[in-house]
Amino acid sequence: MNEHDSERMLSILSDSGYVATDNPKDAEVIIVNTCSVREKAEQKAYSSIGRYVELKKRKSESEKKRVVVFSGCVAQQEGDELLRRFRGVDIVVGPSQVHRIDELIKQAEIDGTVVAVSPDVSQKRFRNPVKDTNGVKAFVTIMEGCNNFCSYCTVPYLRGREISRNARHIIDEVYRLVASGVKEVILLGQNVNSYHDNSEGELITLYELLASLNDIKGLERIRFITSHPKDLTDKLMHAFTDFDKVCPHIHLPIQSGSNRILKLMARGYTVEEYMNKIEKIKTLRPDIAVTSDFIVGFPSENADDHKDTIFFIRRANYDNIFSFKYSDRPLARASTYGDKVQMHVISERLKELHYTQVGITRKIYGALVGTTQKVLVEGESKKQGRQQGRTAHGRIVNFLGNAPKGTIANVLIDDYSDNALYGKHIPEEE
Ligand code: SAM
Ligand code: SF4
Repeated sequence: MNEHDSERMLSILSDSGYVATDNPKDAEVIIVNTCSVREKAEQKAYSSIGRYVELKKRKSESEKKRVVVFSGCVAQQEGDELLRRFRGVDIVVGPSQVHRIDELIKQAEIDGTVVAVSPDVSQKRFRNPVKDTNGVKAFVTIMEGCNNFCSYCTVPYLRGREISRNARHIIDEVYRLVASGVKEVILLGQNVNSYHDNSEGELITLYELLASLNDIKGLERIRFITSHPKDLTDKLMHAFTDFDKVCPHIHLPIQSGSNRILKLMARGYTVEEYMNKIEKIKTLRPDIAVTSDFIVGFPSENADDHKDTIFFIRRANYDNIFSFKYSDRPLARASTYGDKVQMHVISERLKELHYTQVGITRKIYGALVGTTQKVLVEGESKKQGRQQGRTAHGRIVNFLGNAPKGTIANVLIDDYSDNALYGKHIPEEE
């Protein structure tokens, strides 16, 4: 979501005549777009904004005109306090107002400093002029905010309550993106499963939205993130079989394999209920790839809870997982919970999650060696001399060949690593 907000600001500013630069010294406007989900990200934000205000101080008169913007969730969290802490910051803008970046810059030229952190609950917050992400796939926000208040999470406080975007606006945007060459859209929201729009008198849930997008000619693939397990309905599961463009991949974060911890996290489901949902989807779509998030070291997590998590990872047979060290967030309830887990214990547990999952991923990827996979070509790979793309299951493939960007290439898989597949493009005529 943050990455997409950065793209949106970039796109709005290009429309106003700005040109992006990689060199901060050349920039008239520097925006640090921040995330507050974990403490480490927040600290990184402070150190980069510190660097940029220093840069501003050391410059000549004309360069002092440089506008420094602190945007995103840390800006929302700290508000005008940031102006006092970092002399040289001109604009503080929260995530629901980043669509106003162009007018805020103009306002700062007149007023000196601007703080824009009051939540925008109108459809304007979805203003999204992104023309070109990598040209092949594009993010499309369909809802924002969250009503769940998981005890560790700061999102509902900073991005506000759930608000769904009008379906008509989403569909129009996807038409525009496809006309500009985009082949894959990734529908974004903190909790996409609870998407609902009745602005035109008829209830449209994520299922109906997917049905409409599936009909768009030229669009090849549709993904959506993030799904919340408690809101994943039977109807939505059928989207994986009813619509051929909906990719066979679901990111379904469980966070812990211990029911005691899930209850403390206020996630609203048990391990058994979660597992039932995975089994149901797999009956409908046996090949579906499931990925997940885990938080390691939630307050009071003990050796038995951790064992339950490792056991669950093996049972779920995930394609891959993202695991994070628990981090206290000032606004979240869990920051007041006692019995914090020591950092060295968290690090050990995190390693164990990682190695458990690597073993499973390697088995899944190993079984694909010798098969031909359909890969949407995204461009050059970081691995020299190779191209890169993804399978419909969301697996990264680095391959030898000259397949045109934006096409779906047949790739014969001949190797794999812990996080990618390797292969060779097999042109149609072979
Ligand atoms: N809405 C999504 C869901 O409920 O699954 C998650 C969105 S959250 C921004 C992304 C991930 O960050 C979460 O799934 C969780 O694993 C992790 N996360 C959130 N708060 C955290 C915290 N306080 N400490 C560590 N990880 C955290
Ligand atoms: Fe945070 Fe929970 Fe909402 Fe996800 S569902 S954004 S973890 S409060």
